[in-house]
Amino acid sequence: MGEHFKYLIATMGCQMNVYDSEVLAGYLESMGFAKATVEADADILILNTCAVRQKAEEKVLSKLGTWRTLRENNPDMLMVLWGCMVQQEGMADHIRQRFPYIDLIGGPHVLGRFPELIEEARIARSTVVCVEDGERKGREFPVKRGNTLFAWVPISYGCNNYCTYCVVPYVRGPERSRPPAEIIEEVEGLSQNGYREITLLGQNVNSYGKDLDYYIDFAELLKMVSHIPGLLRIRYMTSHPRDFTEKMVHTIAQATNICEHFHLPLQAGSNRILGLMNRGYTRESYLNLVNIIKETVPHCSITTDFIVGFPGENEMDFEMTLDMLEKVRFDASFNFVYSPREGTSAATMPDQVPATEKRRRIIALNKLQTQISQKINEQLLGTRQELLVEGKSKTDTTHFSGRTRTNKIVHFLADEEPQGSVVTVEILEAKAWTLRGKSIKDDISF
Ligand code: SAH
Ligand code: SF4
Repeated sequence: MGEHFKYLIATMGCQMNVYDSEVLAGYLESMGFAKATVEADADILILNTCAVRQKAEEKVLSKLGTWRTLRENNPDMLMVLWGCMVQQEGMADHIRQRFPYIDLIGGPHVLGRFPELIEEARIARSTVVCVEDGERKGREFPVKRGNTLFAWVPISYGCNNYCTYCVVPYVRGPERSRPPAEIIEEVEGLSQNGYREITLLGQNVNSYGKDLDYYIDFAELLKMVSHIPGLLRIRYMTSHPRDFTEKMVHTIAQATNICEHFHLPLQAGSNRILGLMNRGYTRESYLNLVNIIKETVPHCSITTDFIVGFPGENEMDFEMTLDMLEKVRFDASFNFVYSPREGTSAATMPDQVPATEKRRRIIALNKLQTQISQKINEQLLGTRQELLVEGKSKTDTTHFSGRTRTNKIVHFLADEEPQGSVVTVEILEAKAWTLRGKSIKDDISF
């Protein structure tokens, strides 16, 4: 395929999917494709989907409907539906029947076969479907990273936890850890190429290494990565609170380049609901962990995920969730309405909560969290913060944007475009979700 061909990828869902899209882009660029800016200009159009909640699925279906016109206007366009959604039982067939103009349907396990699948789809007259399970390896991927400062590095694929609401273990398969030497080599390469921040990715990074033949845990891996020269910030996601060890807290406290940000999805504040969710911790053990973190890593931020309206959640259970907000005082929380997923055990549990009640609960939860986030952020007024610059602000072009080590977004005014990747800003305005500031001086550390 020639140089003038273009591709466009839309990505939904988690960071692992963002990374997978970078791999798809890497393959396409190595095949001579360039990035398109609008759908109509693309010769290959890819939608990389998520299966975690029903809403995302509905969005995909309506998007695929709009592709029909694009296809009519450009019969040569190749249309690809990728990712976790198509991995679900019966989904690929359903989509093939409903949207016959889609050329390729592929699941996350076959990422490494994307180039041959694309060729197959180009020749085939009907939809090519490839959703089989496969050993997924990361090394040989030609990643086209979306950014020159920040990079995602997968350390494990899949998940063994089987939280009762979650579809991930079904669509991404069991947990497979990448060998540490391979990860270290990749991160060293990134650092040498100028990347300043890396995020280690896995569905549960804390159980890293349990499936390998030799002993290594996530704390050891973090330590090794933090010793690689040149890296300013190391992040990781996602951490399961059950497996977050004190050893990890101390490793993070001791390394200057591991960010003081703890994302610990709590999901619910009631022990009864946590039990039904199969989360493996209690509100007490979670609070204990938070106390250790706060004592050991001062000035850290703590964020979380919640699900409201899990089957059987009653008013008292929900009150326990609100109570945990007050007790922990999270910097931010990402709140979701429970969405039944086919094949998970929660989907068939009794006492499903009515939609109106779920909605009432999420509004109450969001409201309380906004108040808490606002108060916490106000404490930063007048302080100086180190930011890694992400570029021009998306909402206000007179401002630039960056993130603090604690993962807060700051929009800031600068007299001129920041030259280095790091600036110091003074915080002048605090909102619940973002901060505003002014750069003090360019602090080019590298
Ligand atoms: N592996 C990560 C995140 C998985 S999905 C973890 O264990 O934390 C990201 C978030 O989506 C979850 O933390 C949860 O809050 C939410 N989520 C997962 N399944 C859901 C469902 N069926 N309905 C609503 N929210 C869900
Ligand atoms: Fe899903 Fe639980 Fe695994 Fe996270 S840990 S991916 S919520 S099963």
